[in-house]
Amino acid sequence: MPEKNIETDVLIVGAGLFAAMELQKLGQKIFVVEAINRIGGRLLSYPVNGTGVDLGGMWIDEGHQNTLDLVTAAGLTKIPQYNEGNDIVFTKDESHYSNDSSYKFDTAEVEENILTTNYEEGITNEFKTSRDLASHSDSRTHAMFDYFVRSSLCCEPSEISAQYLLEDVISGNRPGVGNTQYRIREGAQELCKYLQKQLNDTIKFNWTVTNIYINEKGGCHVSCIINNSTMITIKCKYVVLAIPPTAIAKIQFNPSIPSNKYQLIQKSFMGFVIKIHVIYRRAFWRKNGLSGNAHCVVSEEDLNKSNNLDNSNPSFAITTVVDGCDDNMKVCALVIFSCGIQARNFSSIPKDQRKPWITSALSKLFGPEAEQAIGYQEKDWSLEHTIGGGYQSLLGPGSTHLGTEKGSYYESISSSHKHIHFAGTEAAFNNRGYIEGAIESGKRVAKEIKVSLQHSGKPFMELPQPIIDDTLGNVSRPKIEKKESKENKNRLNKSKSGKFWLGVAAIGAAVLTSMIIISKRK
Ligand SMILES: Cc1cc2nc3c(=O)[nH]c(=O)nc-3n(C[C@H](O)[C@H](O)[C@H](O)COP(=O)(O)OP(=O)(O)OC[C@H]3O[C@@H](n4cnc5c(N)ncnc54)[C@H](O)[C@@H]3O)c2cc1C
Repeated sequence: MPEKNIETDVLIVGAGLFAAMELQKLGQKIFVVEAINRIGGRLLSYPVNGTGVDLGGMWIDEGHQNTLDLVTAAGLTKIPQYNEGNDIVFTKDESHYSNDSSYKFDTAEVEENILTTNYEEGITNEFKTSRDLASHSDSRTHAMFDYFVRSSLCCEPSEISAQYLLEDVISGNRPGVGNTQYRIREGAQELCKYLQKQLNDTIKFNWTVTNIYINEKGGCHVSCIINNSTMITIKCKYVVLAIPPTAIAKIQFNPSIPSNKYQLIQKSFMGFVIKIHVIYRRAFWRKNGLSGNAHCVVSEEDLNKSNNLDNSNPSFAITTVVDGCDDNMKVCALVIFSCGIQARNFSSIPKDQRKPWITSALSKLFGPEAEQAIGYQEKDWSLEHTIGGGYQSLLGPGSTHLGTEKGSYYESISSSHKHIHFAGTEAAFNNRGYIEGAIESGKRVAKEIKVSLQHSGKPFMELPQPIIDDTLGNVSRPKIEKKESKENKNRLNKSKSGKFWLGVAAIGAAVLTSMIIISKRK
């Protein structure tokens, strides 16, 4: 039987649990509801030989201090991403090694020449797509730009707004320099399992929030459907939505949240990503001097023209491959990311033919031993209905003018409304789309609620801004200053490859300067 008359101080919607981690520190009574039957949201690991294999979020950048602190607190083991040896760059029909010289593959060049330049000039037309940013580039840079967008955001450049892309790259800024990336040996979902233990019995699974009603006194009544059958109402002082905008769009608000914010939320869509693990007896690629990283650098146009790529070509459905071995070599794996149109192509392959397709494609990249797989797992994030895709939600052209303040996606998505607060990685100013962003937005919301409590429960956004508090710092919303701001230019420069966790970041500039064709494979 479902509980009756649930009352709590803070109701958290979504069991990614990073917001809950911060909010429990307020000393308020909290309660978490989760629409599916597990914790972790976009973090999902499964055990193999005592190691956690990640089908969702996996890497932690060196500058993601909150996440690294959590790894330590949870007693988990951080292991460096293996990056020794040559990467493979597969263009439409040719394979190159990264220590060769006839094909130049340099994503830093994409950021310098396309993103920085456009950022400095300012986006004058919010209806531009990110494709327009590369319209004057040569075909090689064009393909690299498309690969950059596809592998960083799991969509094609023509799908997203140019302004959104630039804001997102800025958000990927991290304080540390260098591109060191770590994984968690036990699996990233263990972070959430650790947080779950701290929260005791306050998480309810298969409880989906459908309606949020706010009464005249500001109290919240939240309706949930339990196991797709029973309805229940939870009364609370504050609601924290730690879910992606695409999930917020399915909730009915009474009274409505501001219409322009709601429009922005409804116009958000998730990227398309399928993550695949192929397990081997040994890491044969390392023995052959390969890092395990492969990048299928192909333009959106070539992917769209079916006569340009047949489905035996690795680029048909593979975006990036990385080494997925653990540090003890208990698991030897290649991890494949299929993103954007390539994910669409991969999902068109009948289920029983996917493993042979992938091992055959990997053999074209890494040699015939890739056919000898002993394990296979895949996760199509678009089929996780409460999330709908990954890595994060995106915005198409012509939508960035919506929201509370023109021009800033962050402002629009993150601003609270009455006692409803917005957390989750999409509501982060820095590191949006990362685990770190989910923690940071949780911290911000905890500060907002703390300040509201200090002002007799008056809604945060109705208090005078900015609010300066010695213990909290300035919790008014940070502003993105356009064009004139040197700081933001530096953010952009420092963020090189910040969103580019898919192994590209691991390619040293020296290695990238030159490449020669080593083989031709059709
Ligand atoms: C394939 C993939 C690879 C990634 N790689 C990395 C990486 O290497 N490094 C990195 O830092 N990040 C990575 N990410 C992103 C990272 O996983 C996310 O940024 C982070 O986990 C988001 O956490 P969150 O708490 O904001 O939201 P989520 O994890 O999405 O949690 C939201 C939860 O809310 C629930 N929910 C939705 N609607 C409702 C409702 N109405 N009622 C109740 N519950 C609801 C959902 O079921 C879900 O469990 C990756 C993501 C994917 C998919």
